[in-house]
Amino acid sequence: MYNSKSKKATEFIDDAEIRRTLAFAEENKDNLEMVRDILKRAEDCKGLNYRDAMLLLECEDPEIHQEIFDLAGRIKEKFYGNRIVMFAPLYLSNYCVNGCVYCPYHGQNKHITRKKLTQEEIVKEVVALQDMGHKRLALEAGEDPKNNPIEYILECIDTIYNIKHKNGAIRRVNVNIAATTVENYKKLKDAGIGTYILFQETYNKKSYEALHPSGPKSDYAYHTEAMDRAMEAGIDDVGCGVLFGLEMYKYDFVGILMHAQHLEDTFGCGPHTISVPRVRPADDIDPDTFDNGVPDDVFKRIIAVLRIAVPYTGIIMSTRESKEMRAAALHLGVSQISGGSRTSVGGYVEEEAEDENSAQFDVSDTRTLGQVVDWLIDEGHVPSFCTACYREGRTGDRFMSLVKSGQIANICQPNALMTLKEYLEDYAEEGTKKKGEALINKRLEMIPNEKVKEVVREHLNDIHEGRRDFRL
Ligand code: SF4
Ligand code: SF4
Repeated sequence: MYNSKSKKATEFIDDAEIRRTLAFAEENKDNLEMVRDILKRAEDCKGLNYRDAMLLLECEDPEIHQEIFDLAGRIKEKFYGNRIVMFAPLYLSNYCVNGCVYCPYHGQNKHITRKKLTQEEIVKEVVALQDMGHKRLALEAGEDPKNNPIEYILECIDTIYNIKHKNGAIRRVNVNIAATTVENYKKLKDAGIGTYILFQETYNKKSYEALHPSGPKSDYAYHTEAMDRAMEAGIDDVGCGVLFGLEMYKYDFVGILMHAQHLEDTFGCGPHTISVPRVRPADDIDPDTFDNGVPDDVFKRIIAVLRIAVPYTGIIMSTRESKEMRAAALHLGVSQISGGSRTSVGGYVEEEAEDENSAQFDVSDTRTLGQVVDWLIDEGHVPSFCTACYREGRTGDRFMSLVKSGQIANICQPNALMTLKEYLEDYAEEGTKKKGEALINKRLEMIPNEKVKEVVREHLNDIHEGRRDFRL
């Protein structure tokens, strides 16, 4: 029986309720009056429940599709302005005891190169990332109690936060590791992590169990209830996601919104972010094995309807997607992207030799961070290296109330300009620097609050003179 406040995975993600929702959407998809009514209600930016959202996604009318895209764009602009937050993944170890059939790190894969970074190697990787200009990382590691115990992850976080190299600094470390205990989540919280990220992969229990035939991750309930344990442990910001292509996308679309609803109803705060990865080729993995591929046009609508349904949640898109898809997605609601990513262990310091293959998936957007920043500026976005909220204690419901009031846009934009200025001073090529400076000057003038504008102007000067790390 569906119960959004239940602590049981099969009750807050209820299979029968998902199927009823899908049937409702199928039945009503041609009822344009009903669909337009939902769109009208969504204009107030308070979000939509999974049922309304599914109906929007199911509607096949091309005019409605355009209205969905337009509304998603407006909502994104209202909450986040035109800033795009940048991050990079850092793969610590690809040792893993799980049997996920869609991931080359699965324990039975005997021909992948297994690697685990030492603390010295982490320093080198992070220095390389800092020299690119990154300030925000997402740590990735397989699940292996022997090779990657929680103590190893904690040591890595400590090492990363303590690296001082030129003007570089990693100011926010997000962590994407396997579902764990409340006790371990408390340790991660004490280590100062930003967001705890865990992808559900699929919410369909039967498919989940088939896709995860062995290892601790095969326990659907333990995995699905992980965010509850993380939030009970005091981690305010959690990041959800599904791997589109594993299960029918409609099922997982409803599932992820149900999960968001559960967290909102239980903890008063939904997910901080939702990631939208699609299955990609990798060693031992052929995406054609999964016959649930999501076509580009549907994928764009998924992103846009998510933007409308959960306006307060950041949407993340990685370099799994091509430049073209990322360009489109930025206008539909994606607010955070990775740039210059390496998905192999140790990949930032050196390219893998031909006989090595430690990557989790093939990157589609292979541009450097500098190229991505340059492109974002050309596309009219402000690349942002901001990490201010978490460092100012604006996490969880404190963050959400700022977003819900629309005030976040007044904070994001100044922080984006100041962190972009740092990037331009320290890392950008001349052409990008010129374009970026012009963008900063233009956007500075558009800050509505005169006092804030003055503070930002002063800090931009400070940054030019060599001082760093200003934030609102
Ligand atoms: Fe291991 Fe994660 Fe890959 Fe599964 S998806 S095999 S848990 S690294
Ligand atoms: Fe993110 Fe907060 Fe910075 Fe905006 S001000 S980019 S929400 S950290």
